[in-house]
Amino acid sequence: MNIKVLREQTLEANLDLVKKNLVIMTWGNVSGYDPETGYIAIKASGVKYEEMNSEHMTVLDMEGRIVEGKYKPSTDTPTHLVLYRAFKDQGIRGIVHTHSQFATVWAQSGVDVPCLGTTHGDYFYGDIPVSRPLLAEEIQGEYEKNTGDVILETLETKKTGCRRMSAVLVHSHGPFVWGDSPAEAVEHSLVLEYISKMAYCNVTMNCSFRDKPIPRIQQELADKHYNRKFGPGAYYGQASKT
Ligand SMILES: [Zn+2]
Repeated sequence: MNIKVLREQTLEANLDLVKKNLVIMTWGNVSGYDPETGYIAIKASGVKYEEMNSEHMTVLDMEGRIVEGKYKPSTDTPTHLVLYRAFKDQGIRGIVHTHSQFATVWAQSGVDVPCLGTTHGDYFYGDIPVSRPLLAEEIQGEYEKNTGDVILETLETKKTGCRRMSAVLVHSHGPFVWGDSPAEAVEHSLVLEYISKMAYCNVTMNCSFRDKPIPRIQQELADKHYNRKFGPGAYYGQASKT
């Protein structure tokens, strides 16, 4: 992929965050990774979405050195780089960070988003985990890099791998989400927000109407829905992805 295409795809995905109501002001960022060059493009720091163009997508190598672009990249760049280093060989090509409201509510509560139904199960295999809080020295040290490390540590405990669980909520902060492209990472972010809101509603309803915990989705149903979309022999949708 040439750098121009990488920048344009990444710009498109960043603008999509606003259209999908996942960010306000300058919050949030999307990056894209090109396996041919080994470069990433990421939104420049603090740019308003209404003024954003492909010039604001800064291109870096995997060590974080600027290859192209005159703007300082997002302050979250070291987090994205940690995740690409870990996930790129498994096909991850886009990463999104937002403070989308309901996903962030779960992150702030430090509670995993429970898998309560097939809407969740179609996209994410099991509860969406919240990381542990960062330690004081991790916050005071290389904070953004350490945020990436705690995401990997959290995913490790899930044993699902990055393809079956494409989001981690960072404690007291918000979601980091990934996918096969910047556009797919945005789609996963939108689904995450949708199911976070539904799970919040379920839990709240439960407090009002029931005295038993809400059951998790049946394991058979979770397996069925996830695997018919993404497992071996998947049969959901059209045969070829266009
Ligand atoms: Zn943030």
